[in-house]
Amino acid sequence: MAAPSFNGRITSKTKRARPQGQGDLPRLGLHPEIPGTCTTPLCGAAADGQDETALPAGWIRTGVYGSIDPDRVWCSGLCATWGIARAELRVPAVPRA
Ligand SMILES: [Zn+2]
Repeated sequence: MAAPSFNGRITSKTKRARPQGQGDLPRLGLHPEIPGTCTTPLCGAAADGQDETALPAGWIRTGVYGSIDPDRVWCSGLCATWGIARAELRVPAVPRA
């Protein structure tokens, strides 16, 4: 077999069919929402008003010490990361001595 050339046909392993028996593995996709626009019910809600035992497994609680933004619950890591950044922006500035 000749070595692949720069202008040669692209052969990607990702286009191959999955071997038998591996077709039922769960495939994680990207979160369908843009950070900050998630429409999942309760995503971004204040955590202290929630029954956290009723939230689905995998949900995330975030909080930033000193922020005026309360601790919140999020449906995904992407949403939680956005929420942490938002809470960090809401830390009051402390005057330096
Ligand atoms: Zn979300």
